[in-house]
Amino acid sequence: MFILVAVPVPSLDLLTYRVPDHLAPPPVGARVVVPVGSRVMTGVVVERGVSADGRIAGIKPVRQVLDAGAFVSPDVIALARWTAEYYASGVGDTIPALLPPMARGGRADSHKTMRVAAITAAGLEALAVGADPRVGPGGHTGPPLREKQRNALVLIAGVPAGTSTASLAARGVTADMVGRLARQGFVSVRQDRIDRDPLSAPVPGPATVQPGSDPERALTAEQANALGRLLALAGTGEFRVALLHGVTGSGKTEIYVRLAASCLASGRQVLMLVPEIALTPVTAALFREAFGDRVAIQHSGLSDGERHDQWQRIRRGDIDVVVGTRSAVFAPLERVGLIVVDEEHDGSYKQEESPRYNGRDVAIVRAQRAGALVVLGSATPSMESYHRAMTGKYERVVLERRVLDRPLAAVTIVDMREEYAAEGPDVILSRALRDGLERRLARREQALVLLNRRGFATAVFCRQCAGTLDCPNCSVSLVVHGDGAARRARCHYCNYTARVPTVCPLCAGPYLEQAGFGTERVEAELKHAAPGARVARLDRDAIRRKGSLATLLSRFRDGEIDVLVGTQMIAKGHDFPRVTLVGVVSADVGLGLADFRASERTFQLLTQVAGRAGRGDEPGEAIVQTLYPGHYSIQLACRQDYAAFYERELRFRRAMRYPPLVSLVNTVVRSRTFAGAMDDADGLVQSVRRADGRRDDVRVLGPAPAPLGKLRGEYRAQLLIKGSNRRRIREALQAALSARPELRRRVVVDVDPMSVL
Ligand code: ADP
Ligand code: ZN
Repeated sequence: MFILVAVPVPSLDLLTYRVPDHLAPPPVGARVVVPVGSRVMTGVVVERGVSADGRIAGIKPVRQVLDAGAFVSPDVIALARWTAEYYASGVGDTIPALLPPMARGGRADSHKTMRVAAITAAGLEALAVGADPRVGPGGHTGPPLREKQRNALVLIAGVPAGTSTASLAARGVTADMVGRLARQGFVSVRQDRIDRDPLSAPVPGPATVQPGSDPERALTAEQANALGRLLALAGTGEFRVALLHGVTGSGKTEIYVRLAASCLASGRQVLMLVPEIALTPVTAALFREAFGDRVAIQHSGLSDGERHDQWQRIRRGDIDVVVGTRSAVFAPLERVGLIVVDEEHDGSYKQEESPRYNGRDVAIVRAQRAGALVVLGSATPSMESYHRAMTGKYERVVLERRVLDRPLAAVTIVDMREEYAAEGPDVILSRALRDGLERRLARREQALVLLNRRGFATAVFCRQCAGTLDCPNCSVSLVVHGDGAARRARCHYCNYTARVPTVCPLCAGPYLEQAGFGTERVEAELKHAAPGARVARLDRDAIRRKGSLATLLSRFRDGEIDVLVGTQMIAKGHDFPRVTLVGVVSADVGLGLADFRASERTFQLLTQVAGRAGRGDEPGEAIVQTLYPGHYSIQLACRQDYAAFYERELRFRRAMRYPPLVSLVNTVVRSRTFAGAMDDADGLVQSVRRADGRRDDVRVLGPAPAPLGKLRGEYRAQLLIKGSNRRRIREALQAALSARPELRRRVVVDVDPMSVL
């Protein structure tokens, strides 16, 4: 028999193998060990009984079949194949993403069990009797314990029952010794399944969270109404998509939990997707509170062992609720009835490497195949989702008010041009923001300050020759991190790092200056402006160490930090009841980007961060500093007017032919030289046009240098393909690519891109 196997090699298609007669034919979803070139790999059977197209001679045999049944369920395999096709990536990239890390090496089962030891009653008795049986209570007839045995037994008695023999060995009790004690009946040894539970580890965060869901609590009328509509949709037992459009603080989480309870009651399972790893512990803790230990976590921040164990628990059917980030959309649940995608607009759902899938959209496809309900939750829905809701493809369920009628934050816009005129050109914190902070600190309330740009200074330039300090590998300027002696210039794309020179490398003039500012500078300014305040920073640089993100968030929640300054990370989903002020420094950071989503992203970020204020008993305020106070995304975010923003933005998308009104595929060609990139991209443009046969439905724009024209030493040329029919775009592109196989490795295809930079 011939089978199709997916092997973990990027952009490789399915490979055909022969199952030799002495092996039982593996079912779809089983793992097999196969030769690939000169190597041997573990792959997954994707199809069986395929024809060999008369190439029988060249087809290699399977070496080993690792599973008698499906290791990955055929449903999930089918979902992965859909993903690979839709996002024009190789199945070789996609299938391995479904497997728990250790299964990729084919060693999964060796990790499932381990030998564990525990002291027995006889062992305890022997200890009580002491080294010399003659001095103990009568009746014990065994041989006396020798000194070494006794020490070992004392140690085993002191550790929790079920401690692994490996960890006993690490403490000096050898496997031999354990074996001897076991033969004497003093310890028991058995094979046990060890599940590393990431929830039982002391993850800072959940332990200190106030319960966000309370089954006794009365829902608000709006919540009850929304829940009722969603329950009715779930009750159909059919595929449905609902957009839960609820302002920040409207109590969406409570609705998810109750919806999940009803899904579980009907015997089906729940998949809860969140955009950020940082949000998983809190959300998982809420679900644990409601549903006990049949809740599992899946995300890439877990150790391989933890991920593996959780995956196995799900697969064994011990789990009813999976909470996780985008890759959890492939979790091996068998009976999904509800998929929640919280903060569905969030860019983190899109994987920025192959396969470039959007977890939200794969979730919808999964639900469609499973006949499940998908709930897309957001205060600022993506243009795509809202458009589908407005055109009747999705149900729209609205929460217009915050719970307990808490008001949304009152927003003030500060025009920084006026501020510069009054205070000088170097001012970073406006008067309004400084006053606001002072008042909050006096009242022991907390503040968040957002600047979506890392570093201390964003550029170094020469006043004599106007040259800037640029990355040698990328077409961007280096960002200064640190101050004083610790000062370094770093590229945010390739991590190239250099000393900040004192003379200009171009003209040797001594007039180098720093320009622009990032979160580090704002942190310094805040400490300077409010000397008594406890200020901390939360951005990618501040959380490089594992666990430091959770620690920072829980310290802020516990009131050990007064002012938290950070990038968009501070804007996402968190519920900090004591935050009453949100400051936004340079609200327009993202507006300058040559990206069709720049306005949408700015609107979302500002609305979301303003939504962090006033979630407790005290009302909130937001102060937004900008150089473009008239820009619609800033104006409408400050008025929290989503509907007006959508209408305004839709006009722009229609005029410029961008999603959600057309389908878009971004294609980038990389090359060592600029001319090479442009030539190859041009060739691709011609082939796509030819492949489409001038049907005039597929429009190709380009080639043009990508906005990020050089990255990690490679030049990048771009073509944008637009059309009303995504399949046709993909077919044209695939035809063009298969005509130029040598380009395959240098072409990045991004279907439904989040960004075209
Ligand atoms: P959202 O996700 O919509 O921004 P959350 O679900 O975080 O909002 O809810 C905001 C806050 O309101 C949380 O602290 C939550 O515990 C609380 N909350 C939710 N529903 C109710 C309710 N019915 N009564 C009182 N408080 C509620
Ligand atoms: Zn660089």
